[in-house]
Amino acid sequence: MTYKNLSTRVVHAGEKRVKPHHALTTPIVQTSTYTFENTQDLIDFMDAQIWGDNTERDEYGRYGNPTIAAVEAKLADLDNGEAACLFSSGMAAITTTLFTLLSAGSHIIITDDSYRRTRQFVTKHLSRYGIEATQVPMGDYEALQAAIRPNTKVIFSESPTNPYLRVLDLKKLVAIAKQHNIKTIVDSTFATPINQRPLEFGVDFVIHSATKYLGGHNDLLAGVVVGSDYMIGAIKETQGIFGDISDPNTAYLLLRGLKTLELRVQRQNQTADKVAHFLVKHPAVRRVFYPGLVSHPDYEVAVEQMSNFGGVVSFELESDFEGTGQFIDHLQIPYIGPSLGGVESLVEQVALVSYYELSTEERAEIGISDSLVRLAVGIESADDLLADLAQALDKAFQTETLFQAVNGTGKVTPMVIYRR
Ligand SMILES: *Cc1c(COP(=O)(O)O)cnc(C)c1O
Repeated sequence: MTYKNLSTRVVHAGEKRVKPHHALTTPIVQTSTYTFENTQDLIDFMDAQIWGDNTERDEYGRYGNPTIAAVEAKLADLDNGEAACLFSSGMAAITTTLFTLLSAGSHIIITDDSYRRTRQFVTKHLSRYGIEATQVPMGDYEALQAAIRPNTKVIFSESPTNPYLRVLDLKKLVAIAKQHNIKTIVDSTFATPINQRPLEFGVDFVIHSATKYLGGHNDLLAGVVVGSDYMIGAIKETQGIFGDISDPNTAYLLLRGLKTLELRVQRQNQTADKVAHFLVKHPAVRRVFYPGLVSHPDYEVAVEQMSNFGGVVSFELESDFEGTGQFIDHLQIPYIGPSLGGVESLVEQVALVSYYELSTEERAEIGISDSLVRLAVGIESADDLLADLAQALDKAFQTETLFQAVNGTGKVTPMVIYRR
């Protein structure tokens, strides 16, 4: 049975209607291996393997597990793919997929606004195996076209991106790639299948760090790749050798988290939109990056290909490195930390979490301001979050007023006074 609406599919897709022991929930099958009744049973299984027949059973934990299979079926359904492969982390999904598709002598193109570890893997590690890579600026489709070589096998991109929430034009990406028979991979972690489904645009593979919205409770690490039966089969074979599998307990938590995905993401969409519109009007905020704002460079693409804009808002304050840290310390609801997509709001100063080893000047060169803040909203009340942001910004202004009184300067440089 297939279900029409995502709110039904997050609950029911991928799960057997009648489960072992008539339990309502899919059980955690905690086993490393699976046994055979007798030699003939094993022979039948081996024959089925050779002939590619579907068998309803597993052989060994590195090759399959029923709890993992249920979550894979649900994730394939949500992204409108034929099959999915679950991994121990988002990075495991990315590296194993790329190792499956690329060989020595081949070439990959990656957009420059992609997840930092993905770029590091592509530029620093794949090169050790004789795989060439070109980085192109996100949103520059001429540069993308120009980067294509006869040996280009894969274009890897992300949408929306971190931290500027750039949105890739999936139709343009697919049109360019198809001309040259190149496979496309889109890391859609920030969007989730609720807001965007790249496979519907002809993208070959969609990847998610399930650690973020799909798990949704800041309590697990996992990754997934979704695509065609044939290609996911090939990736699973690589995974069986690499061994970067998930485990039944994590799969269960993910299965459970996914049941509220639609509810959580709708709330996070609404709250992030309110936060973005609040910040845009605030005098202590220099710029706000959110694809749902008409001022965002990719607003039109986002409206066209996404059903909503996600739960992450990035913004620059009228401040410096120290002042921005002080603003963050005034916040009472969001926890300070990396990651996103869980029920708890998380906030980070991007320069500190991701680019601390660089100087202010070096960060400016790659377009990362010291006052850039990334807020990943949770499912708390939007009113409470807005009040929290308002009081943290107000505190900065109050101190600024005091500072002006003490120093007699009329210059309005909000929060700079926090400089040690
Ligand atoms: C977190 C993240 C990853 C890596 O996922 P892990 O589960 O942490 O390995 C990859 N891409 C994006 C966009 C992410 O946010």
